[in-house]
Amino acid sequence: MPQPILFDMDGVLLEGPGTHPQVYADAADAALDELEADPTPTQRADLRRNDLENVADHCEALGIDPARFWQLKERYASQGTHDRLRAGERGLYDDIDAIEALAERTTVGLVTNNRHETAEFVADYVGIDFEVVRGRDPTLEGYRRRKPEPDYIEEALDELGSSEGLYVGDSIKDVTAGLAAGLETAFLRRSHNRGLDRPAEATLELESLAALTDIV
Ligand SMILES: [Mg+2]
Repeated sequence: MPQPILFDMDGVLLEGPGTHPQVYADAADAALDELEADPTPTQRADLRRNDLENVADHCEALGIDPARFWQLKERYASQGTHDRLRAGERGLYDDIDAIEALAERTTVGLVTNNRHETAEFVADYVGIDFEVVRGRDPTLEGYRRRKPEPDYIEEALDELGSSEGLYVGDSIKDVTAGLAAGLETAFLRRSHNRGLDRPAEATLELESLAALTDIV
């Protein structure tokens, strides 16, 4: 099995496929408040979603800098996510013990589409000794570089000085990005992806992270 082993975060360590939409809604509201913007209901609804659609247009109409809005929204979303984790509103999967065990005998990393600030928080929160942690930059460009783009996986590999390895994720875009970065890939089954076919290009399919300790 090639090493290092890099792990996706949402749906692999953190329960559920991603950040709750309310976290982004609250973050957008906080950012708009801080910028003293007064959006229409439509503008607010668009800006609350976790995507870039209409962000530039709405910010221009509101007379605020889209880059500044986005950076604030990302920061508040990180705070909201960390609060939810600390409060136990979002849990961790039981089988992440396996990553901790692997970290004792090989190089492990965390590479996520989630915000870098949250990736750092989670790495610390779970207490696993990841040698590299990479999440998205809190910028508009950082958002565009998410998987299925291989960018953040490639940056993590660069940091480790490695050109091979295994990427473990719970979605098709993880397999696409891992492959594009030149890695083998493992598609991890969780309750939220039971209905998906195994991605044809995935090297492995895992029923649990525990299965990795037998393979590596
Ligand atoms: Mg995921």
